[in-house]
Amino acid sequence: MNMPAHAFPKLLSGEKAVAAGRLGVVFFPAFDWAISATHPEREERLLYTRDQLQEEGVFDIPGISEYRPEFATPADLARTHFCLPDVAAVSTDSHLAAAGAAITAARLVMEKKEDRAFSLARPPGHHAMRVVHGNRGFCNINNEAVMLEHIRDRWPHPDGRPLRTAIVDTDVHHGDGTQDIFWNDPHTLFISLHQDGRTLYPGSGFLQEYGGPGALGRTINIPLPPETSDEGYLYAVEKAVLPMLAEFKPDIVINSAGQDNHFTDPLANMRLSARGYAALNSLLRPDIAVLEGGYAIRGALPYVNTGICLALAGLPYEDIREPDWKPSFVRQRPETGRHIADVCEKALRLFRNPPARPAEGQEEDGYWVRHRHIFYDTDMLGENQFEGWRLCRDCSGLGRIETSSDRVKRSLCLLIPRHSCPACRKAGTLLAERGRKGGRYAHVLVLDGDMP
Ligand SMILES: [Zn+2]
Ligand SMILES: [Zn+2]
Repeated sequence: MNMPAHAFPKLLSGEKAVAAGRLGVVFFPAFDWAISATHPEREERLLYTRDQLQEEGVFDIPGISEYRPEFATPADLARTHFCLPDVAAVSTDSHLAAAGAAITAARLVMEKKEDRAFSLARPPGHHAMRVVHGNRGFCNINNEAVMLEHIRDRWPHPDGRPLRTAIVDTDVHHGDGTQDIFWNDPHTLFISLHQDGRTLYPGSGFLQEYGGPGALGRTINIPLPPETSDEGYLYAVEKAVLPMLAEFKPDIVINSAGQDNHFTDPLANMRLSARGYAALNSLLRPDIAVLEGGYAIRGALPYVNTGICLALAGLPYEDIREPDWKPSFVRQRPETGRHIADVCEKALRLFRNPPARPAEGQEEDGYWVRHRHIFYDTDMLGENQFEGWRLCRDCSGLGRIETSSDRVKRSLCLLIPRHSCPACRKAGTLLAERGRKGGRYAHVLVLDGDMP
């Protein structure tokens, strides 16, 4: 395998580097899983990265350690998703390993073996929604969500209060799957920075998507214009993301670390550099980073991943050298800067003072309802969904989803949220009983957040 050029001359120069914070890197390239042999989401994505990390001597630095992933269980997946018709139909061992790598990263941090951890695994997951009929945007299973449900079960807050989590998604594509899963969860702040959905897949992620009726202002989208550079991106992190984190006070910060904002990425139009990514991570200081997209297999991923590892370990990354980088990439048109400042200001206002109702949908019989058509682009599959959230004063509210697709007939999915009130729990149990008796549904699935 041809190695990319050395990105970090200092590391190789014999200067002794010692990590300021302990970092665990969990690595799994999924050798046997690919959408097709030439598909951009394939095992070489991570093989080059691993070679680069080794070549640069990253694993020789005291304080940085490499780990193998554990496997997530089918129960972990069923704890997070409504898989239709079942878990086995929509996942493979590679998905269990990618979700398991995220769980291993979480374990290292939660059990205090490491200060931070980075899951370098694939296939990615942030386009996988709560209901899964197939593959969307290269994703079947949402690795961060499976990890977070595992954390909440295994390492709950010692005081018994809900664990507060922030997920900051820095993939170039909108994290629509993660947004969907935590849409009505007031204990999870989901922030997505991405290239404006009018110019890129999946075409969503606008300011007016700010959460369900039980979690208004807990989903925040920051759509950025094409050709945003390090300057604009770091501005958004400093002026919008960091103030939100400071006010939300999460117990855990998770970064969905997509690397397709890189200036060489073949699927998108942004201009971030490896140094920009490293700077982003040293600002954000996530407890756990989980790799998402990034398809410039030789041009970006090895450099970006090395940069992120150094930043997470508190090591200097400023001397990073990338072969194709030009100083002109830093410069940003003044109108781009003004546009980003305006979006950041609006996002911060939505977080602090969200409207009293979601922008989309309406009230019907005590539920906030909306109808959606969801397209699974990889599997060429259409899903029809009627989603309702019980409007409740005492908890975030029971979720009721009716779903059907080209593969699975109309099915009922009931989500009893964590820390639910007795009335929502009762309503959920009743709807499940009726749904099973009535014969109207092909499947009736119940996800109970408080069940061990
Ligand atoms: Zn992406
Ligand atoms: Zn309730």
